[in-house]
Amino acid sequence: MVKVLVASRNPGKVRELDQVLRELNIEGVELVSLDDAPAYPDPVEDGLTFEENAVLKARAGAEATGLPCVADDSGLAVTALNGMPGILSARWSGTHGDDTANNQLLLNQMADINDRRAAFVSCCALATPAGGIYTAEGRWEGELLREPRGEGGFGYDPLFAPSDAPDRSSAELSPEEKNARSHRGKALRELAQHIAALQ
Ligand code: IMP
Repeated sequence: MVKVLVASRNPGKVRELDQVLRELNIEGVELVSLDDAPAYPDPVEDGLTFEENAVLKARAGAEATGLPCVADDSGLAVTALNGMPGILSARWSGTHGDDTANNQLLLNQMADINDRRAAFVSCCALATPAGGIYTAEGRWEGELLREPRGEGGFGYDPLFAPSDAPDRSSAELSPEEKNARSHRGKALRELAQHIAALQ
């Protein structure tokens, strides 16, 4: 059994990777969450791209615990805003994790703009204690709605109508429907082959 640290405080992300590994019949991997690993300081997320931030989080986890470590960085890239909020998605309104304020600010900024194209982007990284690094990026294309819809998901989900389920917002998809389509699901499925090769 290989232990792999998932560098996230979000239990949903551990579940999501677990689901992907099971879907792909990858056995012999035990996922460890940050809560079950020795504590270490959160690295400063000062990368300028999703990939840089995912890599620095994965490296910090592998160096601190001696376990292979998976980390992700993700956000919403709006075409008319030159790819922003991008890596600033979680703190777009100035307060980290204030989804309501982030969504309202984005709606206001986009009020007069008809080009509604947007994509969720996720970069997932796997760092090994020996210094190896693997990355995978996933995109989920869609359009921004003009008002929030749906109660599920998190973050910008109520504002995002995915191209592959255009009649609903991503906050109206079940977790299984979302994982099957999402940016993070795509990136994790690609990274999973490297996780399988750890044994
Ligand atoms: P993190 O990489 O999990 O910290 O996510 C960064 C931010 O991007 C979140 O706080 C959300 O605002 C946004 N985001 C990333 N993935 C999603 C998603 O699947 N749905 C909605 N918002 C997302």
